[in-house]
Amino acid sequence: MGEGAPAAADCIFCAIASHRAPGHIVYEDETTVAFLDIFPFTRGHLLVIPKRHGPRLTDLPFDDQIALVRTLDLVCRRAERLTPDYNVSLNAGAAAGQIVFHVHFHVIPRYDEGNPFLGPGRTRLKDDDARELLRELGRA
Ligand code: AMP
Ligand code: ZN
Repeated sequence: MGEGAPAAADCIFCAIASHRAPGHIVYEDETTVAFLDIFPFTRGHLLVIPKRHGPRLTDLPFDDQIALVRTLDLVCRRAERLTPDYNVSLNAGAAAGQIVFHVHFHVIPRYDEGNPFLGPGRTRLKDDDARELLRELGRA
């Protein structure tokens, strides 16, 4: 798997996908999960992952890639309930800023509030905010 990736048993995103760890899940199907980022860049920052462990998009079988992009589309549509503008990004490798080595797309709503990537440190998502967001975005 490369890059010192943890075994799936030690992977926080595998734990969320299998409900062994808590996650604010907005969508789930047989092969994919989407949940709120716990240190959001902006309100409603979401992560979209395959249930299958792999550090990179290119580690996934083609069918899982297709399923992931299908869920990305669905999650973008949910994000558009908050604002029409958003960034979609994928960090592949430590030099690209990847810190969780289980492939994920970020969907980051943008609100005309300046550049959130240049601002001060991100603060941890509060439970009340997460609950409100799950109401707006839907839950699994
Ligand atoms: P990356 O830099 O692309 O690897 O981003 C990993 C993202 O996962 C970061 O934005 C983290 O805030 C987020 N993250 C890490 N642990 C959790 C968790 N337990 N629940 C939700 N998001 C998480
Ligand atoms: Zn994993």
